[in-house]
Amino acid sequence: MSQNRETAPHGVPFFIDTHSHFDATEFDSDRESEYARAVTAGVGIQIVPSVAHSNFDAVAEVCTRHPGCLPAWGLHPMYIDTHRREDLDAVRAQIAAQRPVAVGEIGLDLFVRGLDFATQEYFYVEQLKIARDHELPVLLHGRRANDLLLKHLRRIRVPGGIAHAFNGSAQQAAEFIKLGFKLGFGGAFTWTRALNLRRLAVDLPLESIVLETDSPDIPPAWIGHGRNSPAELPRIAAVLAELRGISVDEVAEVTTRTARTLLRL
Ligand SMILES: [Zn+2]
Repeated sequence: MSQNRETAPHGVPFFIDTHSHFDATEFDSDRESEYARAVTAGVGIQIVPSVAHSNFDAVAEVCTRHPGCLPAWGLHPMYIDTHRREDLDAVRAQIAAQRPVAVGEIGLDLFVRGLDFATQEYFYVEQLKIARDHELPVLLHGRRANDLLLKHLRRIRVPGGIAHAFNGSAQQAAEFIKLGFKLGFGGAFTWTRALNLRRLAVDLPLESIVLETDSPDIPPAWIGHGRNSPAELPRIAAVLAELRGISVDEVAEVTTRTARTLLRL
């Protein structure tokens, strides 16, 4: 037990939501109250990754209005059809204009049909180079693509990052960890049927896990198909604590410290 445990203003543990699309239109009607609800719950920092050049302004605005929202700049593989080569220059320019905590959200998606793989790979590799050149960690989106993500990470050395919404094997997790990565856990493992994720959530070293909501997506079990929100993070942490048989204070302390060290917060 640490003597100097970080707490939020109301004495609750301090959490970092390492992946929140808080700029999404789903929050347009109540973003202020949802931000306040998150802060009250202890979620004092949200990392807000961009997904395409077209939402850089929205992410920048959310991060300017809310002191706890910190941006990451990148081009997401699911929007591959909208990316242009010159958008890579826009990523570099945005990094120069507003220093992010990471390059993201970037990666590869082999689950969604119709996303051209060669183009995805091109944008992924080019953005790894941007992260390497700016000494920034990366926020990775990967579906059915962990081995391909890892292949390029071994070649282009970035200062670590987060395998967001990780859902791979224990061996793939170990390979990410070797390369300085943390595994992002959120609403998905709160579902009792998520056996692989629940096993990983218990077996992985706590020091290699960071928490995230991916709001407004990946709702936890108690929300069902509704909108996810950063304020849910402490309850997600409580599920992790229960699965591991430790206190939620310890989960908060370790995961917050891990995120701070990785993202230099
Ligand atoms: Zn995302």
